[in-house]
Amino acid sequence: MCVTNNHRVFLSIGSNLGARRGNLKQALTLLQGTKLVVKRSSSLYETEPVGMRDQREFMNLVCEFACRLEPEQLLECCQRVESQMGRRRTHRNGPRIIDIDIVFFGRKVIELDHLKVPHPRRLDRRFVLLPLTEIAPGFVDPVTGKKVSQMLEQCQDLSWVRRIEED
Ligand code: ADP
Ligand code: MG
Repeated sequence: MCVTNNHRVFLSIGSNLGARRGNLKQALTLLQGTKLVVKRSSSLYETEPVGMRDQREFMNLVCEFACRLEPEQLLECCQRVESQMGRRRTHRNGPRIIDIDIVFFGRKVIELDHLKVPHPRRLDRRFVLLPLTEIAPGFVDPVTGKKVSQMLEQCQDLSWVRRIEED
């Protein structure tokens, strides 16, 4: 019998190069394994680039996983998928084929140099909070003690985020 806990993990995934929608789907496929199983995915959203404006719009989604990896193993897994998909690290906030960020790892709070969870910029990113509210409005942030839906109401980010109707 397996005794490792299943952690409730939320990943934010974005792309603004190439076939953006296909890139998000491919990332979800590559991420999944015996220790990382998709539970619920948000709709796709088209979003305004934050930070560096002169680039193509992003496609984003947030996905909930049941996870039996440890946090650092999960980060490695995300980074492995990013490089498998050909991501080259250029400047921060620049164009990218795929970006996978850990938003929440259950209710764990992690403050390492290379891994901060909950994600430090979640509160200022409508492109994270809107899809997250779609799938887990009642999830309580372990640092602020607020529900995700409240965090969205209080979010100061004015960038546009549009849900894409899929047929
Ligand atoms: P960003 O996502 O901030 O635009 P990158 O994807 O290039 O930039 O990530 C930069 C670094 O952020 C990674 O090398 C990783 O070690 C670090 N990092 C810290 N916390 C997290 C987190 N919660 N999720 C993903 N990466 C993180
Ligand atoms: Mg990232």
